[in-house]
Amino acid sequence: MATSKPSVTFVSAPAQFWGASSARPLAPRRVHRPCIRRVPFLQAKFRVAVVGGGPAGACAAEALARCPEIETFLIERKMDNCKPCGGAIPLCMVDEFGLPPDIIDRKVRRMLMVSPSGREIPVGRTLKPHEYIGMTRREILDSYLRERAYELGAIRVHGLVQEVELPDPRDPRGKYRIKYADYDKIDGGRATTSSLEVDMVVGADGANSRVAKAIDAGDYSYAIAFQERIKIPDDKMAFYEDLAEMYVGDDVSPDFYAWVFPKYDHVGVGTGTVIDKPNIKRYKEGIRQRAAPKIAGGKVIKVEAHPIPEHPRPRRVVGRVALVGDAAGYVTKCSGEGIYFAAKSGRMCGEAIVRASLNGSRIPTEQDLRNGYLRPYDRQYGPTYTVLDILQKVFYTNNAAREAFCELCGDDYVQQVTFDSYLYKKVTRTSPVEDVKLLFRTIGSLMRGHALAP
Ligand SMILES: Cc1cc2nc3c(=O)[nH]c(=O)nc-3n(C[C@H](O)[C@H](O)[C@H](O)COP(=O)(O)OP(=O)(O)OC[C@H]3O[C@@H](n4cnc5c(N)ncnc54)[C@H](O)[C@@H]3O)c2cc1C
Repeated sequence: MATSKPSVTFVSAPAQFWGASSARPLAPRRVHRPCIRRVPFLQAKFRVAVVGGGPAGACAAEALARCPEIETFLIERKMDNCKPCGGAIPLCMVDEFGLPPDIIDRKVRRMLMVSPSGREIPVGRTLKPHEYIGMTRREILDSYLRERAYELGAIRVHGLVQEVELPDPRDPRGKYRIKYADYDKIDGGRATTSSLEVDMVVGADGANSRVAKAIDAGDYSYAIAFQERIKIPDDKMAFYEDLAEMYVGDDVSPDFYAWVFPKYDHVGVGTGTVIDKPNIKRYKEGIRQRAAPKIAGGKVIKVEAHPIPEHPRPRRVVGRVALVGDAAGYVTKCSGEGIYFAAKSGRMCGEAIVRASLNGSRIPTEQDLRNGYLRPYDRQYGPTYTVLDILQKVFYTNNAAREAFCELCGDDYVQQVTFDSYLYKKVTRTSPVEDVKLLFRTIGSLMRGHALAP
């Protein structure tokens, strides 16, 4: 299990004092390794604080903890945090992040796209027998990923980060001082304030990131998402056994979709909007009404709301601080997907630090973070964000376009390409002939959409 955190703050030794060693490669499966610090405690090491223990922070800390020459602190304010979320993850994440099978509550193999006029378009025909969308509970997924990082040697810090003090920008070795409410040190019923000095910071503290504020990373526009967890009768739950629903229409969201997602023993019913946040409750009523026959007799067990970033922040790396996951703004438009991108950006950032530090023997620079983390991330996923941004602009703007969108979702070629790119996060090679046919079908659908839209 995790080590206790040191109670003294010390200054790192010069780079030449650190012994370089090779970083362990990422193993695909869960590893049980006692957390043994290989370097004597007071022999100072290069220190990294990861703020936030969601998928982004946990995966960054895991990659860092695999290098024993780096002292990694993973700071989380709520160890049983249950992030408001649909919990849907793509199939490739299971293998890539070595997730055990029991983390997946449900395997969704069928979807219904419900159009503004109420047409139900079945989606999923093209899936192969082993393919599915994984439905997870975030409290389970996050705690699994976090514990794995702690087992590998990341130091557990249970606290709420309140302030990040920046070093003098002219000092390449200046320390970042992190002040946090220390939930392991309660005095008179209140958490005392502790602090930590580190060489680098990874900001993985979600959409309301304090790390982003500290480095003046700039704002992003965001959607507000609202979700009710509803326990529905067993016979109704059976309908959602392996099926998720997406609803589109002015009544459920002016610029996004609403959903009914099957969870462990209930359904998550939610919606989101960027352009009309004050009326989010009206859209919540909209999805409740549309799904009413299918969720009748249900009991609301939890109500939750949370921001979803719309695009990356203007600055994601400043000095020796990098933002990952929602703190950076890595949620895709159109689908609102962010778990995989959080985990992936965290891992890429952690690995970039290990590489640039020559396994803990030098302190990476801002340029190292840009070259080793930002550029590869943007190269790999930039096209995905662009395509989904365009789709959202074209198809989520009015009911006629939404009717057309649903009709197109019934097309086998569209389903094949969409699922391949969602499930495997790879740009799919498409067929030029099919692309031209699709263009004509799109025009036809848009024209029919105008006739059908309510
Ligand atoms: C309603 C809703 C539904 C969604 N559905 C899906 C979906 O089905 N599939 C999908 O892929 N994505 C979905 N998303 C998006 C997804 O939830 C996020 O993209 C993802 O959680 C980002 O992970 P993260 O680790 O970057 O941030 P988070 O998951 O937000 O984790 C941040 C962590 O930092 C901690 N923290 C925050 N501030 C501090 C602090 N000051 N000090 C210490 N700790 C701190 C928090 O407690 C938390 O554990 C949904 C989002 C919403 C709001």
